[in-house]
Amino acid sequence: MRECNSRDDDDPEVRFISHALQSVTYDARQSQERVVGSGRRSRPSIDRPRRHVHRRLVLCYVGGVGREAILQLDDQALVARVRAELASMCGVTAAPWFVEVNRWMRAMPQYTLGHLERLNQIEAALSRYGGLILTGAGYRGVGIPDCIRDGAVAAERVMRYLSGERS
Ligand SMILES: Cc1cc2nc3c(=O)[nH]c(=O)nc-3n(C[C@H](O)[C@H](O)[C@H](O)COP(=O)(O)OP(=O)(O)OC[C@H]3O[C@@H](n4cnc5c(N)ncnc54)[C@H](O)[C@@H]3O)c2cc1C
Repeated sequence: MRECNSRDDDDPEVRFISHALQSVTYDARQSQERVVGSGRRSRPSIDRPRRHVHRRLVLCYVGGVGREAILQLDDQALVARVRAELASMCGVTAAPWFVEVNRWMRAMPQYTLGHLERLNQIEAALSRYGGLILTGAGYRGVGIPDCIRDGAVAAERVMRYLSGERS
């Protein structure tokens, strides 16, 4: 089990929820079951050894809003639960070839009503500290493209500040 991105701060305005990601890999030669749904199949890339061509990777998310209690389970119980759900939803009963559990504690911000107004208030309060700039998933978008866009805007603001522009 790996715990990733644990945050020990306690921000009452933006709640960060937790989930776990299980990477469950099957050996397609030992299982005739066809995995359906939105799971991804692992494909051999140019630099990946051909011996992995028979592997099928299924990414399974557990937890999230209203379901965080499941993360109290230990890895063994969590894997058992996911395997039971894969069996009932997709008919996959084969033993996985490899399983990895990563827990992402308080990693996903959940914006609540009034988020934009709160951001405006924070920006107004920060305006007297020109070099202090906020960016990241907790503010203007959770997805990676949002974070990249906001990070680039933040970097430009930092550069302007460092070059003496104060507006
Ligand atoms: C399991 C999971 C799957 C996801 N899948 C997707 C997806 O498929 N598509 C998508 O668009 N989004 C996805 N997201 C959401 C997206 O990945 C995150 O919202 C985004 O990466 C957050 O970016 P960030 O820059 O705010 O934070 P992070 O990416 O967490 O970056 C913060 C950085 O700050 C560093 N740091 C922390 N504390 C300090 C410190 N004190 N000093 C110095 N450095 C520090 C950390 O090491 C880290 O590198 C997923 C999120 C999770 C948790």
